[in-house]
Amino acid sequence: MRHSDVADQLDEVLVTEEQMLARLDELAREVERDYVGSVPLLIGVLKGAVMVMADFARALHIPVTMDWMAVSSYGNTTQSSGVVRILKDLDTDVAGRDVLIVEDIIDTGLTLAWLRENLMSRGAKSVRILTALRKPDAVVSDIVPDYLGFDIPNKFVVGFGLDYAENYRHLRDVAVLSPHVYADGE
Ligand code: 5GP
Repeated sequence: MRHSDVADQLDEVLVTEEQMLARLDELAREVERDYVGSVPLLIGVLKGAVMVMADFARALHIPVTMDWMAVSSYGNTTQSSGVVRILKDLDTDVAGRDVLIVEDIIDTGLTLAWLRENLMSRGAKSVRILTALRKPDAVVSDIVPDYLGFDIPNKFVVGFGLDYAENYRHLRDVAVLSPHVYADGE
């Protein structure tokens, strides 16, 4: 789906599909250099990271394995709850593995701070973080991504896997959701 298909529901485009693919390609080169001799386990956080994972993993020229977790974060609202709950756990044993968490967006970083601790406590050898997007509030947590796509302003965005009430995930670009869309739904 393209911006023009839902232009009345969106404000500005912050990152185009082309920009995102080019940046993920650059990050893939960095990851290849950093994981020489290792087969990292990429862990995607469902559902938002599906598109990032698909494009990033396919840009890589090193062997990796992939797994998925689902944790609760926002529900259908646009405010972070800070409450993290595992909805779907990994199938893979992370003990001794170099883990690279693949995320769509860091807002407060609360979700990732919790997830990083959780994976370390299971015996992961290392845990690094790749995120496609980061918002300014991330500075309040101690979560610093090892690989960052783009810094964006503190606005609610959709597309490239990110949803509002399960909609817009298949939008190719990252765009600001027009506030009238969620104001109407409350
Ligand atoms: P955090 O724990 O970093 O505050 O929240 C991270 C999660 O909140 C993300 O994985 C994503 O699910 C959700 N989130 C944060 N900001 C946005 C946003 O602008 N748009 C959408 N659709 N989800 C967001």
